[in-house]
Amino acid sequence: MSKSKLEYIWLDGYKPTQSLRSKTKIESDFSGKLEDCSNWSFDGSSTEQALGGSSDCLLKPVYIIPDPLRKDAYLVMCEVLNADGTAHVSNGRATIEDDDNDFWFGFEQEYFLWDTETNKPLGFPANGYPAPQGPYYCSVGAQNAYGREIIEEHLDACLDAGLNVEGINAEVAAGQWEFQIFAKGAKEAGDQIWLGRYLLERIGEKYGVAINWHCKPLGELDWNGSGMHANFSNSALRTAGSKEVFDKVCESFRPVVKEHIEVYGADNHLRLTGKHETASIHDFSYGVSDRGASIRIPVLVPQKGWSGYLEDRRPNSAADPYKVAARIIKTVKSAL
Ligand code: ADP
Ligand code: MN
Ligand code: MN
Repeated sequence: MSKSKLEYIWLDGYKPTQSLRSKTKIESDFSGKLEDCSNWSFDGSSTEQALGGSSDCLLKPVYIIPDPLRKDAYLVMCEVLNADGTAHVSNGRATIEDDDNDFWFGFEQEYFLWDTETNKPLGFPANGYPAPQGPYYCSVGAQNAYGREIIEEHLDACLDAGLNVEGINAEVAAGQWEFQIFAKGAKEAGDQIWLGRYLLERIGEKYGVAINWHCKPLGELDWNGSGMHANFSNSALRTAGSKEVFDKVCESFRPVVKEHIEVYGADNHLRLTGKHETASIHDFSYGVSDRGASIRIPVLVPQKGWSGYLEDRRPNSAADPYKVAARIIKTVKSAL
């Protein structure tokens, strides 16, 4: 008999930012298939998801990948259900209306590698600051790139697990990095981002380095914040062949700025200031190739006869990709 380790992963009920939780289930002669993962339960009173008197919440497996960091193991992404089997209020994935996987998402996940002793990014001296922003973006060399062994290990782990990472790069601030993940299907894109985050947290543990997902961990200072740009399309956008379709979709975002910002991550007013390649949180704008806009129309779109995708630049690094995708889909569907 062979034994497998299945790490059941879910999102807790903390507000405004949900975090990853997980626990291990040992299975005998496990097939590796999602349909052979049984539902499980956990103590929701310890995760802000239930009261002590009726504490059980259910875990419903929805996506599985091999666990590249552990022997004979899998990572099992789960939705959280109430004891009666209905979706828990914290379950953003269940609110995604994309059953035919017509929506494609590419998320650009930025984050800081964080020294828990100095409570600063890797590369920051214990006292004071490193040289100002400029040399760190896409840098090489020990003077400017901090923590490369961690992010290389993360990239290999993601690829070994079959996550569709499209690239990585050093970002504008010291100790800040990015990975990009693309999937055809909004739910899978969210699953893959959360599993990519999970692997990064686990590798960080090994190095004693925390991952800071906050969108503006250095506050008001002149250092970039972290985003999670959401690139999205559906078949209507991919085959539009018309500027009017793009204008119509972009305009449909204008009256629902508040509804979008609500799910685009905590403290986004600190990041969306109109500086550092962002648009002000109070405005709505879109434009071809415009990195100071709320929504950027990639330059390839007009070049390809007005077909392709859009980039909503407002979601931040700590946003839940499930909720971001669910809201974008709702708005796009209202336009077309
Ligand atoms: P940036 O210039 O904003 O850093 P890129 O233009 O290099 O980003 O990346 C574009 C992103 O858009 C990629 O992550 C890719 O996965 C995603 N993307 C490309 N085509 C589509 C599409 N048709 N639908 C949704 N996302 C897409
Ligand atoms: Mn970036
Ligand atoms: Mn981008």
